[in-house]
Formats: sequence, C-alpha cells, structure tokens
Amino acid sequence: MQKSLSERDQAVIWHPYTQMQTAPAPVGIVRGEGALLFDEAGTPYLDATSSWWVNIHGHSHPYITEKLAEQARQLHHCIFAGYTHEPAVQLAERLLPVLPGRQQKVFYSDNGSTAVEVAMKMAIQYWHNKGEKRNRLLAFRNAYHGDTFGAMSVSARSVFTRAFDDYLFKVSFIDLPTEENIDQLLQEVDTLAPDTAAFIFEPLVQGAGGMVMYEAPLLDKLLQHCRQRNILLIADEIMTGFGRTGTSFAMDQVTAPPDIITLSKGLTGGTMAMGITTCTDEIYTAFLSSDKLKTLFHGHSFTANPLTCAVALASLELFQQPACRQNRERVAARHRQFAVELAYQEDVKNVRTLGTILAFEIETGEADSYINDLSGFLHAFFREKRIMLRPLGNTLYILPPYCITDTQLDEVYASILDMLRAYGEKWN
Ligand SMILES: *Cc1c(COP(=O)(O)O)cnc(C)c1O
Repeated sequence: MQKSLSERDQAVIWHPYTQMQTAPAPVGIVRGEGALLFDEAGTPYLDATSSWWVNIHGHSHPYITEKLAEQARQLHHCIFAGYTHEPAVQLAERLLPVLPGRQQKVFYSDNGSTAVEVAMKMAIQYWHNKGEKRNRLLAFRNAYHGDTFGAMSVSARSVFTRAFDDYLFKVSFIDLPTEENIDQLLQEVDTLAPDTAAFIFEPLVQGAGGMVMYEAPLLDKLLQHCRQRNILLIADEIMTGFGRTGTSFAMDQVTAPPDIITLSKGLTGGTMAMGITTCTDEIYTAFLSSDKLKTLFHGHSFTANPLTCAVALASLELFQQPACRQNRERVAARHRQFAVELAYQEDVKNVRTLGTILAFEIETGEADSYINDLSGFLHAFFREKRIMLRPLGNTLYILPPYCITDTQLDEVYASILDMLRAYGEKWN
C-alpha cells in the first residue's frame, strides 16, 4: 500500500507552532480552487481563514497563475544590488501611489517578519544618521509583529517568546487606546518621547493577539500626538493591508500619515512569500550621504524576486478591480448580519467585526486547562466539518478570501452555530 501524504509527512516534517508529540496528523492538501482546498481523496475543505490570512482572491487564481508562468519564461531571479528588473520597478510604481501617507520608496525583503526588521532598522538608523540618540521603541501591549528576534522584541512576551525573553531587547509597551485611558496614554508618550525612535503598531486590529479591535479616532489621536513629539510611525499593515479592514489599508481610516509601512501576507494574493517596507522621502534622504556608514546595510538573497514581484503585480491588479471591492463589501455586510445573530447565542461574548473579519470569544472557565480543552474541541470539531478555522485560545474568527461565496459563508456560519450547540451540551 502506498503511504499517504500525511504519513510521509510525519516521518520527515517539523511543523510551525505545533507540539509534534500531541498534534493530530496533518491533512494532505493537493489542490486549491477559490475558497476550497482539496485533500488526497478529493474531499473539499472550506478555507475560512485565508490560509493564514494571506489569500485574498482565492486559491490558484487563473490570472495570477498565468502571470507567474509568463514571468517564469522570462526571468526567475536576478541579484538586486547593482541590477534591477521590470517586475520590481513596476510593482513599486503601482503600489506607492495607493499607500497611505506619501510613501516614496520600496525596500523589498521576503516575509512579514523581515519587513518588520527592515522597518525597525530604518527607524533606528534614521536617528543614528541624524546624530540624535533615540534608542527606545514603543509598541502596544499584546502586539504581534513576527517571529525573528527584533520582531519578537516589539511583540508581547508570551508562551511564543518565553524561551527567548532574556535575549529580546527592551521595548516600552503601552495599552491600546480607549476613551478612558487616552489622556493617560498621551502623558506616557510625553514621558517616553525624548529618546523614542519609533512607535510600531498594528492599525485597528491586533491579529495574532486575538483579533482585538480598537477605534480609529483614538488611534489617530495617539498617532498625531506621537508625530508632534517626533516619534516615527511604523504602521504594520502585514495583516490589515489590501482590503482586510474595509478600506484598502487600515491607515486609510486615520489622518496621521505613517512614516514607514510594512506589508506581506495579502501582498502576493497569498501565493508567494514577500515582504515590503516602504518609507517617506524624509526617511530615505537621511540615508543619502558620501559617508558609507549611512547606508542601510540590509538585504536578502531573494530580495525582489522577479517571480514574486510578478504575482504581487497580478494580485494588485485584481485587487483594484471593482469586483474585488464588491466582494469585500458583500462579505463585510454578511459578517455584520451574522454578528447580530451570534450575539444572542449562549457562551458567546465580544462579537465584533471589521471589514471582512468577524471575531468573538467563547465563555470558558478561568483555568488554562479549560482553554486547552476548548482548543482541542474546536480544532477537532471544525476539522470534522471540513471547515478551516483556527482558533486563537478561546477566540474564534472568520477571515476568508474575499471571493468566498454566499453559500460558502452560510456553511461557515452554520458550522459555528452547530459548534456552539455541541459546546453547550458538552460543558454546560
Ligand atoms: C503575520 C504577521 C507578521 C509576520 O509575518 P510573517 O510573514 O509570518 O513573518 C507581522 N506582523 C503582523 C501584523 C502579522 O500579522
């Protein structure tokens, strides 16, 4: 008998964020189409979380596939120091004008975490180049900016970082803004401002921190205050970019312009790994000098890979078509409708939506073990239903590709109501 993909995997693969001793065998996926992924037996799985928040136009989109093949016949890779190529230039030309806050330059890397590393280096070296000593970084409590050491440092200390906490650099963390704490936050910023280089934040929603949403006007107030104190603003739009929160970028919902933006995930429509860090002319020109020491010494082997640039361009084209906006608005409206129904259910709290994201928490006992049991239950439940949902602790969220159909959305919503019934019977 031929071994299944899942069996062969277990012999040779170490999966991310996975306790390999206890995790169930992974499902082998062979093909994708729209919001569906198919396993070896041809069974469809409905992708309700956009394959780790990256997919926006659906799996194996024919237009993206075509553009990838076209580029593959032309040029696969080219060193990006001293050389350049059409897809990299064209992507930058098309992307910069649609970004918030007068972004003037694109710096390519190859995933979200590296885009964050580049952003932090730009901000820190900006002050260094200007001869001003500003060594402090500011971030939100409960933030997530990636898994490399710099990105971990500006993220919440958590079970993810525990083994490394001694090796992470010091960062000042502040609370998310609320009506109650905003004045106090502004005071905290005043105290920290003199040696703060930059403030890095996930605009409007903290993703990995549990899809925690907060108000645009309050964020705006905080950001404007930081700007007045010369703190650079790094908007981490890795999860929120490309339409996820209702507008093209989350920063379109505030007036404060970011100095630096990080992008990844939806950037290539969820097809290939790419990170982008953009900045204003003000940042860029601080690195221009006859003094070599003012150079941004950073790069990756696959910087601006032509194939990746080509799919990012294709994805951007699709993103700018009216059909994409219509789909996003349709999904957002359906979410808002379902949120009303969901709020009436037992064991459900904090139902919230933002653009194409819907999230809520399941009431649990206080103990961690309770939450662990719940997590196992949820994973098993949705896997059996062939719906790809991946809870964050007791937070359940839907974050689908924009092309998900109404029927498919109905299926996801119904499975959540079924889950709540099963949960009620099991625990109450
Ligand atoms: C996913 C994510 C990152 C890290 O991106 P990777 O490509 O996984 O390294 C950084 N910031 C935010 C807001 C994210 O959601």
